[in-house]
Formats: sequence, structure tokens, C-alpha cells
Amino acid sequence: MRTPIIAGNWKMNKGPKEAAELINALKPLVKDAKATVVVCVPAVDYAAAKTALRGSKIKLGAQNVHYKESGAFTGELSAAMLKEAGVEYVIIGHSERRQYFGETDETVNLRVQAAVEGGLIPIICVGEKKEQREAGYTDALVAYQTLIALTGLTEDQIKKVIIAYEPVWAIGTGLTATDEQANETIGVIRSAIQMKYGKRVSDKVRIQYGGSMNPKNVNGLMAQSEIDGGLIGGASLKAEDFAKVVNFE
Ligand code: PEP
Repeated sequence: MRTPIIAGNWKMNKGPKEAAELINALKPLVKDAKATVVVCVPAVDYAAAKTALRGSKIKLGAQNVHYKESGAFTGELSAAMLKEAGVEYVIIGHSERRQYFGETDETVNLRVQAAVEGGLIPIICVGEKKEQREAGYTDALVAYQTLIALTGLTEDQIKKVIIAYEPVWAIGTGLTATDEQANETIGVIRSAIQMKYGKRVSDKVRIQYGGSMNPKNVNGLMAQSEIDGGLIGGASLKAEDFAKVVNFE
């Protein structure tokens, strides 16, 4: 059995004061959660979030990590820096980073390796664009994105990573993959991992769905056999909504 994991991706929202307020509102609402709960906050919020998270099981996450240990990389943060700031999880390869910041499958892989080596758990985002789904490329694409991202990791390291299947057309659009579409594509991702690393590995990897997941559609999605959690954007910015997703039935 895989423990479900629900992670909030706050994107570029909320400074330290609002971050503390949101976490303080969230804490009592998710105190009995059966799922692992993560909040991936902007970098300026790590200190305030870490303080606010005291006494709760909610984990601190980041939204990106650089692949070098240090050096002339203006604006970037290394895995060691994140770790020292109390970060445990890090989103890598979000479609917004691929679309707006030139992230490629290869740089995603470098970041995944750096995260794992630095003791962070990567939440690796994969997913197809609308035209790629319409052209019938979804399965090949997500399998390829996943296997490239995992290159260089040991089987034990792979067992601990989180994959987030996020169809790009469903992110922030209010469109959601149907329960069956999400389950089927996540099954494809798991099969790709199984083909390369075996069932003992693929059975352990937690694979989330992401894309307009909210209190209304969470139960249907989480009832699917392959879906182990969610990566939540918009609905993670309000404590009540995020808590309803976390406390899915
Ligand atoms: C995301 O940003 O990862 C995401 C899934 O966003 P939203 O829930 O707003 O679609």
C-alpha cells in the first residue's frame, strides 16, 4: 500500500506574512490527515513557513532546485541551501518552468539527481499538451519524460521519488482529466517504470494527479487504483479548500 500524498503548489503567491496565516489556518484542519501533506511555498517564505509548521506533520516543499552545488548561478538555489532552510520536498519540471523558463527533460533530470543526492524528495512533473493528447502521443510522451527524469538514480532512490502527472491543458484551466483518463495515464507511467526497473520498484513509486484538482473532484480521482495523491495549485491557496482535498474520502 502506498501512502497518499497531497502537495500544494503555491506558485508565485503569498509572502511570508500570508504564508504563516495560511499555514496556521490549515494546521488544525489537516491534523488527522491520512495522507502526507506538503506545502510548496515561494523561497522567501521558507523561514516563516518553517516556524508556522512547528507542531504539525505538514512538510515544507520548494518549487525548484538548481543542479549545481554552488557558484555563479544568479537567482538559483542549491539542494543543500533548501535542506538547510528546512525543505524536504521539491517540485521539479513543472510545466510552467518548462514553458516559461526553458526547462528541458535533461535539466529536469539534472535537478532530480541533485535533489536526491542532497537529501530532498523530488516531485517530478510530467504531462502532455492538448495537441499532443489529440495527436495520440500522451502515453509515449509521459513514459519518455518519466524515464529521462529518473536516469542515473538507483532503484532505492527511485522508490522514494514522487511523480506528478499533470496534463498541461488541465493546469489552472478548470478542466480536469476524467477519473479514467488520469488513472489510465498514471498506469502508463507506472508500467514504464516497471518495464525498466521492475515491479518491486514501480509498486513503490507514488504518482499524483495534478490539474484543477479541487474539493469537488478529489474523491473520484482518489478512488482510482493508480492515483496516489494530488499536486494542487489554485485550491491550495485557501485553507478550507486545501483541507477538503487533503481529507478526501
Ligand atoms: C499545478 O500548478 O501544479 C496545478 C495543478 O495547478 P491547478 O491545480 O491550479 O490546476
